Amino acid sequence: MKLNEIYTAYNYSFSKDVLPYIKCQHCGNIYYYPRDNCPFCGGSAIEIMQSSGKGEIYSFTEFNKGYYGIISLNDGFRAYMDISGNNPEIGLEIHVKFKNINGNVLPYAEIENKS
Ligand SMILES: [Zn+2]
Repeated sequence: MKLNEIYTAYNYSFSKDVLPYIKCQHCGNIYYYPRDNCPFCGGSAIEIMQSSGKGEIYSFTEFNKGYYGIISLNDGFRAYMDISGNNPEIGLEIHVKFKNINGNVLPYAEIENKS
């Protein structure tokens, strides 16, 4: 799969409110950021998977009066994204949602409300 095909598949997935990730068919490792060769083994046989969108905050920082950080997804990969909600803490559960910014649909992490 070529890099532009991966970006197209990612954008399609985002438009369906699904967070994608990539699984290498050679070594079985998974990763998030689009690459046409596996960063672990260099293999080119990859498959695009669908994440549950559930995870937790791995790290975060305050940025422009909002929060931004690394999310550790339950599927086993990490991704940078905006964090929505107040008082983020490391280890807090989040759910990935999507927002449309100037025509680009992008994922963000919303802090789960404790009930
Ligand atoms: Zn691999």
